Amino acid sequence: MGTGKTVWDDPADLIRHLQPDHPVMAFAPTVLQDRARQFLTGFPGLVTYAVKSNPDEAVIQNLVAAGLQGFDVASPWEIDLIGRLAPRAARHYHNPVRSRREIAHGVREGILAWSVDSRSELEKLFEQVPVSVIGQRVEISPRFKLPVLGAAYDFGSKFGATPDLAADLLRLVADRGYVASLTFHPGTQCTEPTAWESYIRTAREICDAAGIRAHRLNLGGGFPSHRAAGVAPDLDAIFAKIGKTVAECFGGDAPALVCEPGRGLCADAYALIARVKGLRHGTDVFLNDGVYGALAELPVIGNLDRIEVLTPQGTPRTGARSGRVIFGPTCDSVDRLPGELALPDDVAEDDYIVFHGAGAYSLVINTRFNGFGAVTRATVMGFG
Ligand SMILES: *Cc1c(COP(=O)(O)O)cnc(C)c1O
Repeated sequence: MGTGKTVWDDPADLIRHLQPDHPVMAFAPTVLQDRARQFLTGFPGLVTYAVKSNPDEAVIQNLVAAGLQGFDVASPWEIDLIGRLAPRAARHYHNPVRSRREIAHGVREGILAWSVDSRSELEKLFEQVPVSVIGQRVEISPRFKLPVLGAAYDFGSKFGATPDLAADLLRLVADRGYVASLTFHPGTQCTEPTAWESYIRTAREICDAAGIRAHRLNLGGGFPSHRAAGVAPDLDAIFAKIGKTVAECFGGDAPALVCEPGRGLCADAYALIARVKGLRHGTDVFLNDGVYGALAELPVIGNLDRIEVLTPQGTPRTGARSGRVIFGPTCDSVDRLPGELALPDDVAEDDYIVFHGAGAYSLVINTRFNGFGAVTRATVMGFG
């Protein structure tokens, strides 16, 4: 206490000095910028950021500082956020279902790239979206889907046209004079490089069926973060697979590529610091954060198991690990993490659990249910 510090070396340093009794999200801007540069140098096309995964101002600003020039936005709020924080960046309005008022908002804001996955929504775009804006032609990208493989959960159940419908939409878009492109999202947290492969092949088939050369191909998000201790994501292998498959399918006449990672960019730049409130029955561990807070996504996608347990002095607990049931702070019985987490046997009340890789779909989903959820932000230089 009383050091005047506002930036910490790592989570242990923060814990030692502050001993916070509420959850803290520790953000490492250097980690985010390094990851952004890995995408910018490795991905063979334009890198955009899916704002919904973590719209914190610090994330947007650091991505712009690292050189990102585009954002995937899904709502008027996200359109305005990027307009304010990154006024020169491209905004791709890639939520394929929008109300007429939302479309009007995008048009007023000068949106140049839209996605679509149905005839009814395409009709709405045709009625409201001009073919060009200040001399630049507007792009509409039919979004297609395939049965899922390799993703942590299925995005295709909500959005995406069948390849046949996508070919029809592509032709309609081109006939109207818009820039005709294609987009897909292979599903989130795809650790297998092959997740993108069949989509790229299908994109080629859609172009052939429509008799249209897609101007751009957007490969979506789905790039993995380091969620599980034993499975480090290999982004460079994914980039290589994407480049090779595009070359095989399209040869020298390939569409320009775009990706729109959310999780793959932001998740590993954050660690959640939660505190042990109490231990019960020898097996149960109650934390001050849970599935109504920054751990909201875990029941759908699985545990974050890159965890450290630290004493209030910031010293690691090193006991043999065994499975514990982890509950969050609310009075709701679904407020528990899936399965069990392996914690050191010497874990004690008032200790801290640091969940690494917690930056995506966490802060932005956090609720104030039961009066909990007062997560604060802190800046760290790294994660030790
Ligand atoms: C959510 C979303 C993304 C980002 O997905 P991640 O799995 O976080 O990379 C990208 N594009 C669209 C259209 C999305 O809805």
